[in-house]
Amino acid sequence: MGRAFVYVILGGGVAAGYAALEFTRRGVSSGELCIISEEPVAPYERPALSKGFLLPEDPARLPSFHTCVGANEERLTPKWYKEHGIELVLGTRVKSADVRRKTLLTATGETISYRILIIATGARALKLEEFGVTGSDAENVCYLRDVADATRLVNVMQSSAGGNAIVIGGGYIGMECAASLVINKINATMVFPEAQCMARLFTPKIASHYEDFYISKGVQFVKGTVLSSFEFNSEGKVTGVNLRDGSQLAADMVVVGIGIRPNTSLFEGQLTLEKGGIKVNGHMQSSNSSVYAIGDVACFPVKLFGETRRLEHVDSARKSARHAVAAIMEPSKTLEFDYLPFFYSRVFTLSWQFYGDNAGEAVHFGDFSGTTFGAYWVSKGHLIGSFLEGGTKEQYEALAKATRLKPRVEDLAELERQGLSFALTL
Ligand code: FAD
Ligand code: NDP
Repeated sequence: MGRAFVYVILGGGVAAGYAALEFTRRGVSSGELCIISEEPVAPYERPALSKGFLLPEDPARLPSFHTCVGANEERLTPKWYKEHGIELVLGTRVKSADVRRKTLLTATGETISYRILIIATGARALKLEEFGVTGSDAENVCYLRDVADATRLVNVMQSSAGGNAIVIGGGYIGMECAASLVINKINATMVFPEAQCMARLFTPKIASHYEDFYISKGVQFVKGTVLSSFEFNSEGKVTGVNLRDGSQLAADMVVVGIGIRPNTSLFEGQLTLEKGGIKVNGHMQSSNSSVYAIGDVACFPVKLFGETRRLEHVDSARKSARHAVAAIMEPSKTLEFDYLPFFYSRVFTLSWQFYGDNAGEAVHFGDFSGTTFGAYWVSKGHLIGSFLEGGTKEQYEALAKATRLKPRVEDLAELERQGLSFALTL
């Protein structure tokens, strides 16, 4: 049993949805493109899962957040794929790939062959078991990667109303879920190994602003320690967590966000890997010229930094997808991908954006006791990164533009004094 397509996208997440839209814009013919996804639903905007999906009132539900609504583009429902002659093979895991033969074997036993393959398999959530803690399959321990996880999390929140949640991890999932838990009237305690939240991006000064805000909303922080084991009741439900520092916390539910690993295993030994992802060139093309990689799984050259990066953010998934399709359909007209890294988050009434790289020296600006403040990062005499909380559209655009320009900065004190106006007047 087998089918053949010109183009196959392996994975049906954010990058797949944006690639599909780009294919139709560039004139893919009916029957040429196939998307294979383990998830039972058409591609959707994953960021909604830790935000609108978790709201207690009027929560976001599919089909409202199928791609590509997050970029104010068309909403690609299953009907859209049908109308465009794109084959959606949903609820189907690919269990092996042979890039020499250009075939994929699905768990249902079907062989799907391609002329061009785009790998868009994203990533999986790291499990506590990988850190030596057992029991994370208990019914009230939640991870958050896909819509099935989010649905489960909503159910667990509903059965824990008014109770205590322990949030393991101080990164994106931890921060966004702790806010959602509080909004759902569940007490949240965040536990993480670092001295501050969002340690990989935030400076201590920025982190302290968010932590104070969270504390004002009732969130508690237990820093500098990790989970060592769970306490269970006779039904196998978690009732508490034991921490490495010897303390114990009662828990009605647990949310775990301790990072991800890109889904590369199908291609190990077949394609060149780098920084945990599939290494691609400026056309998103892997070490095999018929295979491209986009989104979380791709490790691509970031021209601005002169080095390769693997980014785990939605803007990079969307833009790398579009770029790969342009390079496939019109290679001679497509330049090297020239991407400005962009991250963002929204929690409670707060909202921030970050551009570029957070290396070098941080220069803070604005009113940290107010609503609008930020930071620049300066490395080797050039501004290379910028962060802003509570900005306007114009301010964010100015920061993005300034960061891309990498202007020379002679005097850090002067940059601090000028603050946002440095970017606005550039
Ligand atoms: P994914 O969207 O993860 O899609 C991968 C797809 O491949 C999945 O459907 C998966 O089931 C499928 N797949 C994998 N292996 C196989 C296989 N063997 N066979 C078949 N199918 C397979 N980023 C931001 O910038 N801002 C945010 O606010 C934000 N919020 C987020 C909130 C949550 C809860 C999560 C989990 C992520 C968030 N992100 C955010 C990150 C962003 O969603 C990811 O960077 C983005 O989804 C990556 O897109 P992708 O297509 O590479 O992977
Ligand atoms: P992150 O990498 O953002 O954060 C993981 C956190 O868990 C870090 O603080 C990490 O510390 C900590 N950690 C690691 N191991 C342990 C452990 N054993 N016990 C306790 N804490 C631990 O990953 P998330 O899980 O938060 O997010 C998953 C993915 O989803 C990421 O790709 C992220 O980009 C994406 N996402 C993005 C959002 C956004 O952009 N707004 C929103 C939600 C998700 P350390 O740094 O020391 O390893």
